[in-house]
This record gives sequence, structure tokens and C-alpha cells, in this order.
Amino acid sequence: MSRPAPVVFSPDYECDIGRHVFPTQKFRLVRDTLLADGALDARDLIPAAPAPRADLLLVHTPEYLDDLEHLRWTHRTRMSELPLSPAIVHAYVLAAGGTTRAAAEALVHGVGVHLGGGFHHAFADLASGFCYINDLAVAIRVQQRDGRVRRAAVVDCDLHQGNGTAHVFRDDPEVFTFSIHQEHLYPIKEQSDLDIGLDNGVGDEEFNRRLAAALPRVWEHRPELVLYQAGADPYEDDQLGALRLTIEGLKTRDALVLEGCATRGIPVVVTLGGGYARQVADTVRIHRNTCALALALAARGATEPRRDTP
Ligand SMILES: [Zn+2]
Repeated sequence: MSRPAPVVFSPDYECDIGRHVFPTQKFRLVRDTLLADGALDARDLIPAAPAPRADLLLVHTPEYLDDLEHLRWTHRTRMSELPLSPAIVHAYVLAAGGTTRAAAEALVHGVGVHLGGGFHHAFADLASGFCYINDLAVAIRVQQRDGRVRRAAVVDCDLHQGNGTAHVFRDDPEVFTFSIHQEHLYPIKEQSDLDIGLDNGVGDEEFNRRLAAALPRVWEHRPELVLYQAGADPYEDDQLGALRLTIEGLKTRDALVLEGCATRGIPVVVTLGGGYARQVADTVRIHRNTCALALALAARGATEPRRDTP
């Protein structure tokens, strides 16, 4: 049995965003569920720390960060579908620190789990959707800056396209961006290195068949780190989407990505992404399953980084 994978979390991810479809309590509930069913030991929880401005500047422009810091409603910030408050900005800066920490842990343990993050709609100089800071991009850029990795990939299985991530890395051959999502839906699409736009009504079989067929393109990139955006919103009872995955189908999706990384010795980071099920408990269950699988793989020692393997 290898060392358990650390799990990054902050209670401050739960904040007041007014009446909203985004349940910010889900982060706490996922943690509580993992602790209650024994998938997570409280001793393995690591508190997220705010990302330093120097780290955020690897992705975001100073003008945009100034807007956020001073809570200014400008053309850069008002594309968000969230209010702008000190607690909300803090939650996003924390989430960027959280994914960065989980990535560093993944490079040691093979798996890093962040009970947060996945804010893939944020651009370098523009908020978008429910995203102010692109934690996925910040985490990759920090590992590159610090010389821990050169090549990375983002596997984005959220209902929505990872438009911000695609745009941030659009001219970077070292970072492969892959997004599988509902085509006819927010956002206006950017071009990832690989996009699969699914028709409304697609369910478990087609989603997972097309995901399995696409993942070899990710492995061919020979990433030294994979950021997994494991959005819960392809779920059949999601309020925002029209994909029709079941909870079991989403477990198969997670296994394709996480076991795919594990068998190749590629360090992988779980981030939660979206999730707007009519019943918040369903969103929590889906995220819990993703994290529990990642932790089980880590406990099996299935994910020890092996740098020499394509
Ligand atoms: Zn989403």
C-alpha cells in the first residue's frame, strides 16, 4: 500500500452568491461524504492556500486581476454570471491555489485530488460563466515555471466546453487541450486541440465510446501531468444540460480517464467542475465517486509516476 493521496479543500469555497443554480455548498458536502463513507481519512486533507499574484499572472493579465482585487465591474469582469464580492474573489484565488497544490501532490503521489476547481471558462483577461480564475491553467503554468513538467494535458469532461482553457493554451504545443461536451449549448466554442461536440440526448454508451476513442490522442501527446476536469453536469438530471449520462455511466467515464492515466504512470489531478443536478445530493454523489476512484487508485499504488513511459 503506498501513501494515501492528499486531498485539497477549503471551507471558503462555500460562499454567498445569492439565489443561484451553482450550489457552492457542494464542496463541503463532497468532503463530508468522502469522510463519512471512509474513502477519505481526515488526516489526508490539506487546506488550500490562496494562489500568489505571481502565479495568477502566469495566466491572467494585471488589468483583469486588478479589476478582481478592487471588485470593479468592467468589460472584463461583467461577463461572469456571478456577483463580485471579496468572499467570491477569495474563493477563486483559493481554488487556483488548491489546484496548483493538488498538481504538485500528483507529481509526488501519482494522484492529486482537489475538492474544488475546474473553472475552465475563465480567460486570461475575461471572466466567463461561473469562472473568474482559470485554476487549471494556473496549475499547469506553475508546474512548468518551477521546472516540474514541460508537457501537460487537460481532459475536460464537463457538460460545457473548456473554452477559457482552450484559449489560454491555443498557441502552446506543450499543453494539449481536450474537451468533450454538449455542442449546442453555452459557451461560444473556442478551438481545443481536440473537441468532441455531442448532440443533445447523448447517453452513457455514446459518450464513453467516443471518450475512449479520443483518449489515445491525449496519451500520444506524452503528457507529464494530466488535469482532469470531472464536471458532474453531463448527468441526465442536470438543470443546465441535455446530455443523459447516468451515475453509473459517469463512473465509467471517470475510470476511462483515471485508470488510463494510472496504467501509463501519468500523474493526474482531479478537479470537480460543474454540476447542477435538480437534487444537489446527486451532484455530490457524482463528484464523490470520481474522488473515491482516484483515491482507490492511489492507495493501490497504481499511479506511481513513471516518467519513462509514453
Ligand atoms: Zn459545466
